[in-house]
Amino acid sequence: MNLIAKRIRGMQDLLPEKSKNWETLEKIMKEEAEIYGFKLIRTPVLEQTELFERSVGGESDIVEKEMYTFKDKGDRSVTLRPEGTAGILRAVLENGLNNGPMPLKLMYVSSCYRYEKPQSGRYREFFQFGLEVFGAPSSVSDAELICLAQSILDRLTIKNLSLEINSIGCKECRKKYSEAMINYFKDNKESLCETCQKRLEKNPMRILDCKEKKCIKISKDAPVILNYLCDECEDHFNKVKSYLDVMNIKYTVNPKIVRGLDYYSKTVFEFICELDGEKITICGGGRYDGLSKIIGGPDLPAIGFGMGIERILTVMERQEIEFQKPEATQIFIANADEKSKKKAFELCEIMRKSSIIAECNICERNLKSQMKYANKINVQFVLIIGEEEIQTKKANLKDMASGKEIKISLGEDFIKDFLNTQFNFD
Ligand code: ATP
Ligand code: MG
Repeated sequence: MNLIAKRIRGMQDLLPEKSKNWETLEKIMKEEAEIYGFKLIRTPVLEQTELFERSVGGESDIVEKEMYTFKDKGDRSVTLRPEGTAGILRAVLENGLNNGPMPLKLMYVSSCYRYEKPQSGRYREFFQFGLEVFGAPSSVSDAELICLAQSILDRLTIKNLSLEINSIGCKECRKKYSEAMINYFKDNKESLCETCQKRLEKNPMRILDCKEKKCIKISKDAPVILNYLCDECEDHFNKVKSYLDVMNIKYTVNPKIVRGLDYYSKTVFEFICELDGEKITICGGGRYDGLSKIIGGPDLPAIGFGMGIERILTVMERQEIEFQKPEATQIFIANADEKSKKKAFELCEIMRKSSIIAECNICERNLKSQMKYANKINVQFVLIIGEEEIQTKKANLKDMASGKEIKISLGEDFIKDFLNTQFNFD
């Protein structure tokens, strides 16, 4: 084969076998979020570049090197969304949803685009299931969101899961913390990677999020933000922990979690799954009270998380968690000759109107090739329609597993007969 184009690197085709898993996963996530009062929102995949530059932040990996940014035909700079939150918040503010009843609880399933080096669990197009809560400044809201994430992951029966939480404080806390970080790194600044040297000047906390080995090593004994929290942030964090305790949610405080995006404040958290010694972050989130103002809106407290759908599917596959298979075709209605094709088609349509998954011969196949196809797709029943069947208004329903046949009516009782007869095969 000589295809004129191939799949773009880092992007994936979702084939039917896996798409059912995907659908099941999405259904569970949405159902669980609905129970907590979340409503679905959809926003465009393209946004003005500035939205992400300002919100995700200039020092983040995303803005520095991962964005799909290009000029549209009107010479405007646009970007394929690299994450869900900024676009959702823009939509909330632009449509005035923030003037409605608060808190506002929104969920989304969005494709995201990041120009990263493709590898296991890291793609250039991936999907996030995300939740955002607006207008709820209280620590209960943080705990509620974490409980919801936990309950989704519990429903998926994912094992070896741990929840890591931290507080990265507010602007005030970070001012003092940045000074301590600058002081800590001042002697080995040159050994940091180039990006981290820049971070040291602009946002030293982000050094802790660097994936370069040398930076991880130098940061080992760096000051931790938890020691620099102001009274309010400390109180908020303590309350979040106490709510989680009440709900019996197990967590560890990891002061090194700072998250990859610039807009977070106070509580941040990650759900990490350990698979054969490898740690996979499947969900990450946190509070971002300051973001609304950054993008030109009013003060609007907010908290949210994103779950990487592909990563969760990979974890579930590797943990051999059983998924639903795509529904098999229940019945194939074959035509014995050309003249019976119309009748077979008509009967097939009648079946479909009763929600029975039915197929008929939409190719120019003779009976033998139709039967071959029916076998290949593992259909449960076959009904062969020929002249005699049309005349007598009766046909043999064949159970493909046992080979057993039972006569059913093709007249008014067609569906009733089919449904009753199904149970007479054993
Ligand atoms: P990482 O540290 O792994 O790069 P991140 O901090 O960039 O993650 P977030 O921006 O918080 O990730 O995205 C939320 C979730 O989306 C992640 O926890 C992960 O499950 C998923 N995710 C992030 N980047 C990718 C990617 N390139 N491919 C697939 N899933 C991803
Ligand atoms: Mg990343």
